[in-house]
Amino acid sequence: MKELFYSVSSLEEVFAKLDSLNVKPGVEEVPIQQASGRVLAEDLRSPINVPHFRRAARDGYAIISKDTFGAGEENPVVLRLIGEVRAGQEEAPHVSPGQCVRVATGGLIPSGADAVVMVEYTIEKGGKVEVYRAVAPREHIIDEGRDIKRGSLILKKGVVLTPQDLGAIAATGAEKVKVYSKLKVAVASTGDELVRLGEKLKPGKIYDVNSVTLINAVRDSGGNPVYMGIIRDDREKLIEALKKALATCDVVVFSGGTSKGPGDAVPSALREVFTPDFLIHGVAMKPGKPTVIAAYHGKPVFMLPGYPTSALLVYYIIVDPFIRKWSQLPRRELRKVKAKAAVKMFSEEGRHEFKPVKIILEDGELKAYPTATGSEAITTLSSTHGYVEIKVGQSFIEEGEEVTVTLLKPVNELEGGGERKP
Ligand code: AMP
Ligand code: MG
Repeated sequence: MKELFYSVSSLEEVFAKLDSLNVKPGVEEVPIQQASGRVLAEDLRSPINVPHFRRAARDGYAIISKDTFGAGEENPVVLRLIGEVRAGQEEAPHVSPGQCVRVATGGLIPSGADAVVMVEYTIEKGGKVEVYRAVAPREHIIDEGRDIKRGSLILKKGVVLTPQDLGAIAATGAEKVKVYSKLKVAVASTGDELVRLGEKLKPGKIYDVNSVTLINAVRDSGGNPVYMGIIRDDREKLIEALKKALATCDVVVFSGGTSKGPGDAVPSALREVFTPDFLIHGVAMKPGKPTVIAAYHGKPVFMLPGYPTSALLVYYIIVDPFIRKWSQLPRRELRKVKAKAAVKMFSEEGRHEFKPVKIILEDGELKAYPTATGSEAITTLSSTHGYVEIKVGQSFIEEGEEVTVTLLKPVNELEGGGERKP
């Protein structure tokens, strides 16, 4: 049996292997009130014309346009007012030559009428209406089906639904839409030192941070996190948890225990469950080398390193893009900014490095400072703005060199004068 981490894979190999997995979300119907951000799973056609009757686009009078020809500010045409249509009224009196009907915006256009004259160009006097302007045929009338024709395509499969899309769907009367189901992502932490939040800490113990960061990150990626708890550093317990996660979820994201230290049970547990399906035994990235990726009957299993900074960074770089892809969601486009390296930055040979940096505005220039703490510190990622990449084959970045910083969060102070030098 090949020893784990003997051969680390490049990030390109990791992406290529994951690309070959074919994870498919199911389809479900959700109420349109709750469908924003979900991915439409069918081409959507309208069962009705919208509007499904001729409507008035303005408050005014429904008229026969021919009656108003020649009308002007000096010589109004006088029409007989025979009735009124309020919004929502289901019937309207027929308009014959010389007559008009008062209509409200959105109201039904009476038969016989072919235009609306805006109330601003009229004066109503005891059963008569003076019209001070000629009106063209169909003016201020919204024809049946003008917005959406019956049977026409409203939205294409694969669209990420927005409130405005859902408004268009609502106009056709649909109460529910078919969307791709969110992928169920099993999240668990492994380690004898971990205790649940809210429990009392004893010497040697720490709170389980990764399940919190990962559960929230999974939700951000459009997945549906399923927390499986804390797993002790015990081979049998880990195998049991993996089997349960695989039986109930689409994707598995566990953290901790992936190194070769005492108690690290992941490598040997995985060997038992996944002998034929091991994909990756270590990744040539920093942080994140002790990352293990397997697939079980096509289901991806990500075993992330235990350090919270490493776990989350590996999640962002490797796991997030695939959860999005498999969920039919577009990639997350992280904002990138150019900055000057504030100091010389070294990188480890053979590893694609993601250096957490803080961006500081100094003398009108953006400078990227590597975060003082390493991946062992919980606060490293929350105190950084983003990362600078140093790819394999490049051993350092010179002080003053221009670098691209990929931002992991919005940075308001870039525009607002920046932070003070640390
Ligand atoms: P491991 O990968 O299990 O060797 O863990 C590496 C380091 O990360 C150790 O110091 C662990 O205590 C820490 N660690 C592992 N899992 C978690 C977690 N869920 N929350 C916080 N720290 C963790
Ligand atoms: Mg551990």
